[in-house]
Amino acid sequence: MKNKCLVELMASLEKRNPHESEFLQAAHEVLESLEPVAERRPDLVEAGVFDRIVEPERTLIFRVSWVDDKGKVQVNRGFRVQYNSAIGPYKGGLRLHPSVNLSVIKFLGFEQTFKNSLTTLPMGGAKGGSDFDPKGKSDGEVMRFCQSFMTELEKHIGQFTDVPAGDIGVGGREIGYMYGQYKRLRNEISGVLTGKGLSYGGSLVRTEATGYGLCYFTREMLKAIGQSFQGKTVVISGSGNVAIYAVEKAVQLGGKVVALSDSGGYIHDPKGINLKVVKQIKEVERGRISEYVKSVPGSTYHEGCSGIWTIKCDIALPCATQNELGLESAKALVKNGVIAVAEGANMPTMPDAVSYFQENKVLFAPGKAANAGGVATSGLEMCQNSMRLSWTFDEVDQRLDGIMTSIYNAASGAAKEYGKEGNLVAGANIAGFLKVAEAMKAQGIAY
Ligand code: NDP
Repeated sequence: MKNKCLVELMASLEKRNPHESEFLQAAHEVLESLEPVAERRPDLVEAGVFDRIVEPERTLIFRVSWVDDKGKVQVNRGFRVQYNSAIGPYKGGLRLHPSVNLSVIKFLGFEQTFKNSLTTLPMGGAKGGSDFDPKGKSDGEVMRFCQSFMTELEKHIGQFTDVPAGDIGVGGREIGYMYGQYKRLRNEISGVLTGKGLSYGGSLVRTEATGYGLCYFTREMLKAIGQSFQGKTVVISGSGNVAIYAVEKAVQLGGKVVALSDSGGYIHDPKGINLKVVKQIKEVERGRISEYVKSVPGSTYHEGCSGIWTIKCDIALPCATQNELGLESAKALVKNGVIAVAEGANMPTMPDAVSYFQENKVLFAPGKAANAGGVATSGLEMCQNSMRLSWTFDEVDQRLDGIMTSIYNAASGAAKEYGKEGNLVAGANIAGFLKVAEAMKAQGIAY
């Protein structure tokens, strides 16, 4: 990074947030790709937009106490970082995972601001969650935790203020418990959470949206070089919500998915993953991916996660978690002839691995563009809630497809306009940033 104002800004972020490695990593990546904007738009520098956009508008940290099945009091820490509301109400998921801390939530909220801007829908950026670990907890414990979490969060959200959604560890069950508690406390029916069940205001396609959207984006990226999913071998990491529906759409588009993982290890099924078996294990039984090999002869299970990237494939879709794909894995993928890597998870690829892909002319789609289908469909859920009606599966799916195509066009167009043709990381950051930046400038600064 050479631009003086951005170099100084990055140095001040490092000084003020010394322990927030994930946040600093995300901020560095974004600011680096905004250099041409800082050069071309002194008005935005003058208006302090760069300095303001990296600082959350509001950060909430709160105690979540709940009682476990043995009657013992447990205490977790809850977070909601309301990053930016320049273009609409704060919007972003809630993550329940032991690794959750302020740095992780800030990095996710910062990224969400640009992602939401790219969707073309009026949504600001936020993220939240807790270090609560849902693994091994009973249904009752999860319910009591979610209710306690919402008892505090309720004071800070609302359909016109902040609309949370799911993320790692927060699926339909958890959203249901949180929504129920919000309704009890507020005595109002509004679309305050997205990812709701279909019987109480949820949208069709929301469950599938991130995985499907990822494949629509990848399809557009491949189209630009005259390629498609047809006949391609695909490796997908994770086996949660995003991964499962990425498998479904990749197969519908003609690809063959041969591997999936969880935090314990990965499965390799050279004949093509049997998604019915995966859904039964992961969505019904909430089991481990290793159980797949018991049902599918010819498949193998391997301990450890990163080995999945040594499997030969044409398309790699990291859909598990941040920093899961490092330089060694990138080298293995390139050596095996990968042509496209698209991020279903948030920041799964480490910075040196991203550079390696770009240097080796591998098509690379950053998460903030490629996985925006989830939040885009959440935006469509908010829209249906406000109108008090529900669209059909095909109607929502078509809108999702249209949004993902326009995100691809916006990112590749911005990259070209700012002299970084083909660099979708820069393009997505620039396109996402400009809309928020113009809105911030127009709204002035409170003295
Ligand atoms: P889930 O909780 O449904 O699934 C996460 C999956 O990743 C699980 O299979 C988990 O395994 C696995 N996993 C976790 N850590 C690792 C690891 N180190 N290596 C391999 N696998 C691992 O989450 P989602 O599918 O919803 O989210 C996945 C990613 O996508 C996250 O980065 C999230 O922020 C992002 N995302 C999600 C959206 C959504 O709509 N759901 C929208 C946009 C982005 P285990 O069960 O062992 O923990």
